[in-house]
Amino acid sequence: MRLGQDQKGGTRLARERATMAAMMSLYCRDHHGHRSGCCDDCSHLLDYANRRLDTCPFGEDKPACSKCLVHCYSASQRERVREVMRYSGPRMVFRHPILSLYHLLDKGRKAPPLAIIRRGCSTAAASAARAAKS
Ligand SMILES: [Zn+2]
Repeated sequence: MRLGQDQKGGTRLARERATMAAMMSLYCRDHHGHRSGCCDDCSHLLDYANRRLDTCPFGEDKPACSKCLVHCYSASQRERVREVMRYSGPRMVFRHPILSLYHLLDKGRKAPPLAIIRRGCSTAAASAARAAKS
């Protein structure tokens, strides 16, 4: 079971959330003057990004969003997140070197083929067929 519910809180996604939150607060501090955390707008965007992670069909196998074949962000949110990444990405190296390193490594991952998502369905179908036979 690769894409199960039980992997939702796994380290890969937890790291992704931490990186996103760090990038967002960096961006917000420099653009909106927030000293800690994010302004309402940025919090909203961060919530949105986290919800997309919640429903990411790849789970722990997820590629970097920029390489993903499933465009789950709406066009406007995608543009905003890209802007945050463009700004905060290079700055993360100094502020959060470890997260930044992992982010670079994750970026090198290729998007798994979409067939992986569908495998969940076919596995369920196969076991249903087995159960029907016995
Ligand atoms: Zn902000």
